[in-house]
Amino acid sequence: SDVLAPEIEARKTAILAEVFGFDRFRPGQQEVVDAVLAGVPTLAVMPTGAGKSLCYQLPALTLGGLSIVISPLIALMDDQVNALKLQGVAAEAIHSGKPREDNVAIWRRVAAGEVRLLYLAPERLMTDRMLQALSRLPLGLVAVDEAHCISQWGHSFRNEYLQLGRLREIFPAVPLVALTATADKATQGDIVERLFGGTARVFVSGFDRPNIFIGMEEKKDPARQIESYVKARPRVPGIVYRISRKKVEETAERLVAAGVRALPYHAGLTPEQRAAHQEAFLAEDGIVMVATVAFGMGIDKSNVRYVLHADAPGSLEAYYQEIGRAGRDGQPSEAHLLYSGGDIATRRRFIDEEQSSPERKLVEARRLDSMVGFCEAVTCRRAVLLGYFGERAKACGHCDVCRDPPKVIDASRQAALALRLARATGERYGAAYLAAVITGQRSDQVCARGHDRLADFGAGADRPATEWRALLRQLVATGALHADAERFGALALTDHGRSILDGTRTFTLRAPSKAPRRDRASRAE
Ligand code: ADP
Ligand code: ZN
Repeated sequence: SDVLAPEIEARKTAILAEVFGFDRFRPGQQEVVDAVLAGVPTLAVMPTGAGKSLCYQLPALTLGGLSIVISPLIALMDDQVNALKLQGVAAEAIHSGKPREDNVAIWRRVAAGEVRLLYLAPERLMTDRMLQALSRLPLGLVAVDEAHCISQWGHSFRNEYLQLGRLREIFPAVPLVALTATADKATQGDIVERLFGGTARVFVSGFDRPNIFIGMEEKKDPARQIESYVKARPRVPGIVYRISRKKVEETAERLVAAGVRALPYHAGLTPEQRAAHQEAFLAEDGIVMVATVAFGMGIDKSNVRYVLHADAPGSLEAYYQEIGRAGRDGQPSEAHLLYSGGDIATRRRFIDEEQSSPERKLVEARRLDSMVGFCEAVTCRRAVLLGYFGERAKACGHCDVCRDPPKVIDASRQAALALRLARATGERYGAAYLAAVITGQRSDQVCARGHDRLADFGAGADRPATEWRALLRQLVATGALHADAERFGALALTDHGRSILDGTRTFTLRAPSKAPRRDRASRAE
């Protein structure tokens, strides 16, 4: 951690208590605050509610002068400014939702040095006039909120955010901090590249929700499985996620027939129906909401006891957000997923059939791979999930894998083969391509690149390509391979992967439930 001058340290502690009224930091906050105060370019990734705002507001007030906060939405700016004003902080926003004379009056106060935090949209900040006016004022720091908007790899890219890449050159002496709640490792890398020019310290924290038990089971007869899961948890609020409107309707009907207070929620209902169902869910305790992804944004019900995914989501980001609706009160809660290979195949078909660029499809496919890797994991679920966001975690003891470790087999030699081929092909390809080379498929692409002449070409032909893809997914899920965002998920070796390759580390896989293919494999090796 960064060591600060004693007077800065003292100011920081005093402002934390006196302005914000907090006696201590939440996990992750202090590291970010100290780095910003030390002038280190910093990216903070924390989920909603973890306390991101403090990470730039406290340094801003500690540093003094005027601090600029970039935010993409007027509503977000106004919320923050109102909250700060209530705490007695001179904060203002200049934006297009206000009358011109209000904006002018605020600017006068800014120029007179009366404002500590000024919220602006990126396009307003990045005008020559604004930049020049600001260059005459003593700037404390520049904070970029919702920083994932700068990444095309993220899900809410905004063109105006790209301009912000010039900030580090325009204000080289002013500390720059970026914050976001939703950035997987790929998006984080992208933010560091575009906003900070490649070097920034990245802090990821607060993603763990230790009160949520994470579990999974194989999907066999979903209607029956959902019913028995819900009935085993009577009279508590829960959410059942399904992939389509039709399935939502079917599931809600079946639950109602079984005597459960279940309500459907999806985009096909009228706005009035949706509002009524949502209000009932919020007001009463004991309603089960059966919903598509349309349900949940901005829903703040603290005592949801479980989130049951009867169909797997398309990405770990989506999964994480959806299970995060359980147990906001900190009480024991559950996330349960019914997993099926068929669902994943359906999702892959959706991606193929989408009207989008080949790059976009690749990104979506890689995200889905992460979800599948998580489902097939033989190590702690929480560690895999947090690792996906870049947060380190030990085995949690509070997931199905920790509680009941699956039978595993040593697959170190197969892993080494896959890793060797990833390296021999230049660490430039995804799982599907590598599996094709391993199993010896002489496709046009494979031959054109000369990969059919590699020593290990076809060395894994004794197993189907699907098994190799599963193995590659586990190599990603356990951090032996890294999916490179800049190159659309090309799989590159990490230190962990290199240690499997040189035999200093072993690699295990879930033991197949059917007849083992052991003898054939060992003969081929
Ligand atoms: P985020 O921006 O990450 O969604 P906020 O900054 O709005 O989260 O903080 C969420 C809540 O946590 C707020 O009510 C805030 O007052 C509170 N909070 C933040 N930091 C602390 C702290 N160190 N101690 C206690 N409460 C805190
Ligand atoms: Zn665990």
